[in-house]
Amino acid sequence: MYQLIDGKQTAAVIRSEIAATVRGMRERGVRVPHLAAILVGNDGGSETYVAHKVRDCEEVGFMSTLIRFDASVSEEKLLAKVAEINADHNIDGLIVQLPLPGHISEDKVIENISPLKDVDGFHPVNLGRMTAGLPTFVSATPAGIVELLRRYNIPLKGAECVVVGRSNIVGRPISILLSQKGIDATVTVVHSRTRDIGAALRRADIIIAAIGSPGFIRADMVKEGVVIIDVGTTRVDAPETKAGWRLKGDVDFENVAPKCSYITPVPGGVGPMTRVSLLLNTLKACKR
Ligand code: NAP
Repeated sequence: MYQLIDGKQTAAVIRSEIAATVRGMRERGVRVPHLAAILVGNDGGSETYVAHKVRDCEEVGFMSTLIRFDASVSEEKLLAKVAEINADHNIDGLIVQLPLPGHISEDKVIENISPLKDVDGFHPVNLGRMTAGLPTFVSATPAGIVELLRRYNIPLKGAECVVVGRSNIVGRPISILLSQKGIDATVTVVHSRTRDIGAALRRADIIIAAIGSPGFIRADMVKEGVVIIDVGTTRVDAPETKAGWRLKGDVDFENVAPKCSYITPVPGGVGPMTRVSLLLNTLKACKR
């Protein structure tokens, strides 16, 4: 029988740990962590993500500031705001919600955020520090996955780990983290040009699936006892639900789960851990 890796519950435990730390800071008269978020335009998805981030801050006792710009804002004006926040000693972390409108360079905006306030961990300096194994802000999803594996005591040393997907925000960074000294997994990265993904997956003790292709990983592609972290979240039609859709992961959960020792559900696995990782990074930025 497989065990569910409950990201929702684990994230709730971490939030209560953070809240206790923040209460302690207040009692000692120390300034509490402060996250600033910039939202450009009014894309529905981005609005929801930012609203969650602000609500998470409130729940643990952080300060938060939401700065909104119209979708027509110039790159220059946005960069000026980033510079202003970089210089503001009362703000510890800054995130700029992506995607940005086409006339603004996302790379340029990210590169203008101070690496010391880049709690999303997207700045090239922080990506480089992570690659070199130096202290840094690791981006939220990979950091959340590592924390989840750690809290569930999943053995990683020497484990055969296959990461499916090589994006800059999930696949690539998690593959680097898991192969680092101290974590010591043996990591294979597979992607859309890989000749035989099934062959790689069948050797895996641990699979991290991050492709965005619902139900891609089937039961015949995994071995008995595998641990699976399903990062994929794709909206699929679900006429039986009120919304008319639901989230589906990259794993054919119903048929694959019986072969697993541990598996994350979608939703309720990696998603909540991604959210809580941003709080952990903001706390870290404040302590520094
Ligand atoms: P992405 O930037 O689109 O990257 C997808 C990766 O998967 C690419 O490397 C691509 O290969 C590979 N891929 C796509 N189809 C494939 C196939 N059929 N076989 C093998 N490899 C394939 O996506 P992402 O941003 O990493 O996100 C991946 C999924 O995770 C999405 O469903 C996203 O919504 C979800 N996500 C969830 C969270 C969370 O907190 N739960 C956070 C971030 C992302 P190539 O490089 O060869 O094109």
